[in-house]
Formats: sequence, C-alpha cells, structure tokens
Amino acid sequence: KGKIRFEQINFGYEPDRQILHNVSFDVPAGKKVAIVGPSGAGKSTVIKLLFRFYEANSGEIYIDGQPISKVNQASLREAIGIVPQDTVLFNDSIFENIRYGKPSASDDEVNDAIRHAHLSLFINSLPKGKDTQVGERGLKLSGGEKQRVAIARTILKGAPILLFDEATSSLDSQSEQAILSAFREIAIGHTSLVIAHRLSTIVDADSIIVLQDGRVVEQGEHHKLLAQK
Ligand code: ADP
Ligand code: ADP
Repeated sequence: KGKIRFEQINFGYEPDRQILHNVSFDVPAGKKVAIVGPSGAGKSTVIKLLFRFYEANSGEIYIDGQPISKVNQASLREAIGIVPQDTVLFNDSIFENIRYGKPSASDDEVNDAIRHAHLSLFINSLPKGKDTQVGERGLKLSGGEKQRVAIARTILKGAPILLFDEATSSLDSQSEQAILSAFREIAIGHTSLVIAHRLSTIVDADSIIVLQDGRVVEQGEHHKLLAQK
C-alpha cells in the first residue's frame, strides 16, 4: 500500500512562471524513492503538491490509484507520515509525547512503537521509566533522542507512506546518520519518498529521480545512474 504516481504534472505558483514541467514518476508500493537535484529544482514543490497545499495546473497525482484531487487534505495527512527534522516535544512524558501520533492508541501500541524506534533501552535506563517527563524542569534530550521520539510517533501513526525531507535538515551529520539508520528500519514495509541532498542517503534507494529546473532529467536505479557518469 501507498503507491504514488505523478502523471504529467505541470505547475506554477504564478500564472506566468511555470515551475514543474511534465513531471511524471512512480513510487511503487513498499519501495524507497529518492528525489535529488539542485536547490530550486522543484523538490519541495513536488511535496507541496502531494499534500495538496497547491493544485497542479494539469496532470494528476494518484495514491493507490486514486486521484488526490478527490481526497481531502485531512486524509492525505493520515496517509503520509513525515519523519520530522525539527521535533516539538511538549511538557509531558516521553510515552505521552509518542502517543500524540495516534491519540487513540493503546498502551501496548505505544510500547510497540517505542521498541521499533529503538527507544526502549534509552527509556528503561531513565530513572522514572515511561513516566519520564521531558521539557521544562524535566529531562533534557539530545537532538538525536528527540528525533527517535518523533520517529516513534510517526511509526505509531501507521501511515503507509513515509516522507523524509532531508533538505530541511538542521542536524549535524552524526545526528543525521542516526536518524537515517532509524529511518531505514522503519521504512521497511512502507512506501517512502526521500528528498535527498547527500549521496549517503540515496545509496539504498530503489530508484532515484533527478529533478532539474522542474523537469525529471533522469530516473532509474542508483547503480545504473552512476554507471552512466
Ligand atoms: P527545491 O526544493 O528543489 O530547492 P523548490 O520547489 O523550493 O525547489 O522551488 C522551485 C522553484 O519554485 C524555485 O524557483 C522557487 O523560487 C519557486 N518557489 C518556491 N516556492 C514558491 C512560492 N511560494 N511562490 C513562488 N515561487 C516559489
Ligand atoms: P544538541 O543536540 O546540540 O544537544 P538539542 O536539540 O538537544 O541540541 O537542544 C537544543 C535546545 O533545546 C537546548 O537548549 C536544550 O536544552 C533544549 N532541549 C532539549 N531537550 C528538550 C526538551 N525535551 N524540552 C525542552 N527543551 C529541550
């Protein structure tokens, strides 16, 4: 589940300036596809269209065969889990911060997400176990720890599609590597779309899309693209 298809998408923010030109690509269900390209190429615009923040001028985007023009934004947000770069945790326990991803989740479901995000060891080593408070006067988490809490939240949400936008990253490279390895694990069984700017991020992608000036200039498996160079 979670197959994405962009079909002949044309788009401009302003009528007289086209940004995306006939952009077509597929993200097969369960696969990881990376979009790369220079700054200004249109990568973020692709994401904004996927979330229906803007409508394409022509063409159609499909999720599992359904045109997103017929899907409301709330449903799209449920279908797509964003692996966040900047995490806002509120002043409550780590457990409740994770439950926020799916307020109706049972304790068992939250605990499963904690295990999947490899947070158990970390949480169990804390003085107050799952009730550990973060935020004001409470526990201070490092950037990487906060990311793991956020990843657990995303896992709990259970969305079939995962989106990881590295372009917005403010992390140092060590934290980023930690996130990426966590992301690789949670991405198993999900369809994932990655906006990448580092080679290390795309090595394990099933397919890579190269965007330039709003056009798909190359598309294919990583090793084949490299072999052409
Ligand atoms: P990337 O994510 O690859 O860096 P973007 O999708 O952010 O590229 O931008 C593609 C082009 O669209 C750029 O020329 C940018 O200036 C333009 N653009 C982005 N957002 C807006 C906007 N809200 N209004 C007008 N132009 C925009
Ligand atoms: P680093 O990874 O460099 O330690 P952090 O992202 O952990 O940076 O911290 C950035 C700022 O956020 C710091 O001032 C830190 O004290 C604060 N901070 C860290 N964890 C929390 C939290 N759980 N609640 C509120 N503030 C926090």
